[in-house]
Parts: sequence; C-alpha cells; structure tokens
Amino acid sequence: MTSIFTSDKITALRKLLEEAKLIVITSHRSPDGDSIGCSLGLYHFLKKQGYPVVVCHPDIAPGFLQWMPGIKDITLLEREPEIVKPLIADADLIFCLDYHHPSRTGKMEELLVNSNAAKVIIDHHRDPDKDFATLLFSDITSSSTSQLIYDLIESLEKTDLIDELSGTCIYTGIVTDTGSFRFSCTSARTHHIAGEIQKKGIHTWEIHENLFDANSLNRLKLVSYSLLEKLVIYPEYKTAFVWLTQEEEERFEVVKGDTEGIVNQVLSIQGIRLAGFFKESEQIVKISFRSKGEIPTNKLCSHHFEGGGHLNASGGKFVGKIEDAVKKFVTILPNFVEENKAQFE
Ligand code: 5GP
Ligand code: MN
Repeated sequence: MTSIFTSDKITALRKLLEEAKLIVITSHRSPDGDSIGCSLGLYHFLKKQGYPVVVCHPDIAPGFLQWMPGIKDITLLEREPEIVKPLIADADLIFCLDYHHPSRTGKMEELLVNSNAAKVIIDHHRDPDKDFATLLFSDITSSSTSQLIYDLIESLEKTDLIDELSGTCIYTGIVTDTGSFRFSCTSARTHHIAGEIQKKGIHTWEIHENLFDANSLNRLKLVSYSLLEKLVIYPEYKTAFVWLTQEEEERFEVVKGDTEGIVNQVLSIQGIRLAGFFKESEQIVKISFRSKGEIPTNKLCSHHFEGGGHLNASGGKFVGKIEDAVKKFVTILPNFVEENKAQFE
C-alpha cells in the first residue's frame, strides 16, 4: 500500500505543528462517530505532547456519542460563537477532518475560508477541495478518517503515544464508519489497526456496548413504528425507504441521533439493494441513502438532492415539503435504476 502520508508532506506538517501557537481541530456538521472519533483521537494525541490544541465543531454530537473521552472539551459554534469565532480567526493551523469541502461545516464555512491559518485536510471523501487545503491527505479507500489519524500517527513514528483516550476515540470512529467492521471499506489494514489499538488497553466490548446497547425506549418505538407503518417498498426496483414527518418525530420525542441507523435496517431487507430515509425538519428534508454492491448513492445525491458522499452511503437535502421530496425520489427512481441496471442485478 502506498501511503498518502509521504515524507515531504509529513515534514511540512511537522513544521506547521512546531510553529503553531494555536491549533484548531474542526469537522463537519451533524457529527457522527467518525467525525468525533478522529477529532478527539487527534486532540488527545496532540494534547499529550503539549501542543496548544482545541477542538471546535459546528454543532453538538448525538447522545449515543456523549460518553466519548474528551467530548466536553469540544467547543460548539452553535452554542458559543463568541469563543469559536476568534479561535478560528487566530489559529495558525486548522485540521479539517472527515470533510472534503468547507461547505460541509455549515455556518463554520465562512470563518474557515476567512482564516489565514494553514488548513490541513485529512479525509476519505471524494473530490477534496484542493484550493482550500494547504496540505491535503486524502484517501477514499480508507474506512474512516479515524483510520487515517492512526496512519498519520504511524507516519510520525509515534504510535507509542496512543493511549486509552486516543485509542478509544480512533477505535470508535473505525467501528461506526465500518458498521462494526461489516462494510466493504473494511480492509485488512482496518483490522490490523483495530488490533494494534486494542493492545493499548482499550475496552472494545465497552465501546460497542456504549454505542449500540444504549437505546432509549422512545427510539426503539420510533424504529418499530417506522418499519411497521412508514416503510415503502418497490420490489421491482429493489428499493425501499422510510419517511418521517415532523409531527411523527415530535410524537416519539426524537432527539439527535435517534433516527441514525434506520436506513441501514431498511437496507437489511432481503432483496433490497437501495435504501432511503427522509426526515423532515423546518423547511428542509434531510435525506440519507445506503446501497449494496456498486450502486452509486453519491451520484443519486449529487444529481438530485444537493449532496454527496460515498458510493454506498450518501446524504443530501430537499427544500420543501417531505411529501414532495418523496414524490421526487419516486419519480426519478425508474431512471436511476435504468442508468445503473447492471448494479441493480
Ligand atoms: P448520513 O446519511 O449519515 O447523513 O450521511 C452519510 C454520508 O453521506 C456521510 O458520511 C457524508 O459523507 C455524506 N453526506 C451526508 N450529507 C451530505 C451533504 O449534505 N453533502 C455531501 N456532500 N455529503 C453528505
Ligand atoms: Mn467518515
């Protein structure tokens, strides 16, 4: 495997790290296990060596990640703009983790673009913004940005500094972005890194328990309701989806993170190769797609729903009513299946 962490880029990064008086770690909005895992993994690693480092994220992580070590150290733009704005403006070095373009940070985009700091992108999404990055570490074959943080630490020859704190965060990012080592992005390297991290004394069983055995009763009821009442199946297109209105979310007292994973359950149905999830909030409908095999959900999102992502997992949005978002999907579906006929076989 050829590493994206080439010696000239590592030398350049070392210089940036040594000269920086303020280092800010950022990630995309609507955080997930990987964005929190890579941010806090890098944060613990740098903090341990005495670097002046802070983590600033656009918005709060869902409840199922609130146990992660260091989560309370993250400063949120949505909560404390008066703290985050000067940090980003005054930073010398900004890590941009798990996003390919500053627009993925929502309201943080403008602050990032206007900051004179050196920007270091470390990411595994397609088409990274080369103009935005001072230093770019991009590998779309990597399972997760958390895996790339391990690769980075290894390239810096400092894996001995990985401890329970950083190890737990990196492991969590890998577990969540690989669907617990299930998705095709899981490589031998992914397992190797997980094994190396486990040697650091992290409690892997506890991480899985924290992530997956912490459902609220409301969430379980919402999932059951979604599958029982709101599942739409098009067997001829090997496609199924769930859609939830704001009224339904209120009925089940949905909190951030509660709807996570519903789309994967839809995809788990025998014979289904494309799964969707539509969620209404204010004037916008948030859309998630997952697929099996080579069906390009990223194209579906970038062509029709102002979004993008990976081949098998993408997201986007629709401005308007949820019924119209669903209608639009159902209208474009036959063409999408036709265009990707071989992939749906
Ligand atoms: P989710 O369905 O979990 O919200 O997102 C799945 C994946 O799709 C994310 O890991 C991210 O790569 C991508 N994604 C989600 N929303 C957007 C979006 O609005 N724009 C782009 N470009 N990618 C998105
Ligand atoms: Mn990721």
